[in-house]
Amino acid sequence: MYKCMKCGKEVEIDLKTAKKIICPHCGYRIIMKTRPKIIKKVIAR
Ligand SMILES: [Zn+2]
Repeated sequence: MYKCMKCGKEVEIDLKTAKKIICPHCGYRIIMKTRPKIIKKVIAR
């Protein structure tokens, strides 16, 4: 899972098949790697 540095949206990119890494939402080319461990679900009570 990747995250766009510009719009901050999550981007799914398969590096094996994708030749160009680009954000499908805004077209930005800098995308940051995100790990699933960082994303935590908080249950609001
Ligand atoms: Zn973007």
